[in-house]
Amino acid sequence: MVEDCVEKRFWAKVNVTDNEKDCWEFTGATAENGYGNINVDGKTTSAHRYCFFLCYGYFPVQNVNHTCDNSLCCNPLHLYDGTPKENSDDMVNRGRSTRGFIYKFYRGSARWAAKLTEEDIPKIRRMLACGYTLEYIGKVFGVSAVSISNIKRGKTWKYLARELVRKPRRAQ
Ligand SMILES: [Zn+2]
Repeated sequence: MVEDCVEKRFWAKVNVTDNEKDCWEFTGATAENGYGNINVDGKTTSAHRYCFFLCYGYFPVQNVNHTCDNSLCCNPLHLYDGTPKENSDDMVNRGRSTRGFIYKFYRGSARWAAKLTEEDIPKIRRMLACGYTLEYIGKVFGVSAVSISNIKRGKTWKYLARELVRKPRRAQ
């Protein structure tokens, strides 16, 4: 539960707008190097780096770079893996399965209709357990609050209910 809530703490400190072109600035503590700081499992991590992990599913070997040159920006669409190509292929492959999340985030913020996939359901259940509102989760995944409510009540995706008791994070 405590571990789950890092996500909530993080997004609460990001000024997310409805426009994917805007910089979503981190409003929490900043380090001397100008990057935001977030405490994850007792370790201080750069906010934009953690954001990259949340949205793309892996930590780059080297830097997470900004296309916008705004060091506080946590808009996942402005972040990219700055690891030289020869070192990054393996990580990219590992991250590929979760890459769809970013498109859902963008589509959600643009209020387009999206379809949920099996991979989304454990994420949604974790966010529910963490106390996110139905509206917020719906926005992130680009679906209605009613769809999220149906998942919560087990009306849809019942066969994935066991995911709920799984450990939320992969081993680091
Ligand atoms: Zn930006």
